[in-house]
Amino acid sequence: MNCPYCNAKMKLGQIEADNLLSWKPDGERSTGGTRWAKSPNSIVLAKYFLLAPASVDAYYCKECKKIIIDISEETNR
Ligand SMILES: [Zn+2]
Repeated sequence: MNCPYCNAKMKLGQIEADNLLSWKPDGERSTGGTRWAKSPNSIVLAKYFLLAPASVDAYYCKECKKIIIDISEETNR
């Protein structure tokens, strides 16, 4: 993937979390007290599964200091 800012080739890697990795609108709070709790309008980036960490592919541009993550339809059903 090429960086949409500078057009350089981006480096593929993964972002990992022990539980749920998600984006949520600014100011919105998670509902529920568990570590899997998510806010109503959040977008799930990766889910914890059995013993594996939540992991999502991410492209990194060293020049622009940007990381791009694709949203999976499957994890947001
Ligand atoms: Zn860039």
